[in-house]
Amino acid sequence: MTQGVPKVIIHGGAGSSVGHQERLLTLREDMHSIVGQVYSKAETGASARDCVVLGCQLMEDSPHFNAGYGSVLQSDGQVRMSAGLMDGDAQRFSGIINVSRVRHPIDLAAYLQPAADRVLSDLGAAELAREMGIVPFDPVTDVRLKEWMRERANNFQSAMAGVVAETVEIPADPESRRGTIGVVVLDAEGRLAVGTSTGGKGLERLGRVSDSATPAGNYANAFAAVSCTGIGEDILDECLAARIVVRVTDGLDILAALEKSFREATAHGRDFGAIALSRQGQIAWGKTSDVLIAAYHTGDGVGDTLELDLGTLTGVVQPL
Ligand code: ASP
Repeated sequence: MTQGVPKVIIHGGAGSSVGHQERLLTLREDMHSIVGQVYSKAETGASARDCVVLGCQLMEDSPHFNAGYGSVLQSDGQVRMSAGLMDGDAQRFSGIINVSRVRHPIDLAAYLQPAADRVLSDLGAAELAREMGIVPFDPVTDVRLKEWMRERANNFQSAMAGVVAETVEIPADPESRRGTIGVVVLDAEGRLAVGTSTGGKGLERLGRVSDSATPAGNYANAFAAVSCTGIGEDILDECLAARIVVRVTDGLDILAALEKSFREATAHGRDFGAIALSRQGQIAWGKTSDVLIAAYHTGDGVGDTLELDLGTLTGVVQPL
């Protein structure tokens, strides 16, 4: 097979604002560094799936995002994380739901790729972590704990935690920060893969299941791959990732598929964003939320969506 130019797009959540300028620069630095590292791996000929796992691990390590270290706390003050991984080449989904005390939830999803039982939750997830010999890891940061304590004092008024971690102690606008992460890669051999990892909405009821480890939030086949972020219930209601991928599979151009899906989502009053890649190497995104924190590598250079106009619904970078 002829070698093509790999493509990478990652997201760090969607919401109502990126925050002040200093914060935007910190996020940009983080995102550009991670997208660069994932691209470097793809350049060595690594599979899309391996590149996606690396990208998710790097983002899970960053306290700026609501995944792995720096995840938001649920209503009972505990962190429970979920991750989905889909290999578009094999068209195979695996996932882990509401796992605690691990550093990289994506590793559990990756481990399950060849397994007979490919989506595990709660007790099964804890058993799997033990079986994999994962050293217990506490993902709670001081910022997250203080955020939860403030919310508790306020009798959990917020519908959603501030899901991108602030570097300052008291965020000015907790609603403005979301930070589920997603990574989509097209490798040099033309294979697509996608991974999504999250601490959830934050402040949610025990047992709530995020969209991130379902095909609504994370889906890929040979034609396209999509990772979503935002209100999980909205993403489930639209079955967003699978909806976009199926439209591309049935012949719509990726931008047209996003346009159609995001127009429908706007009409339904949804609040979310998505990143996508097509097998032709088109890098694309869509959002109904005000901001989408995403960065991409075209093979030629790095770009991001951090300063898009508020009303922007979709965008695409065509391959050269
Ligand atoms: N989609 C995630 C959830 O609802 C949250 C997010 O993307 O910020 O669990």
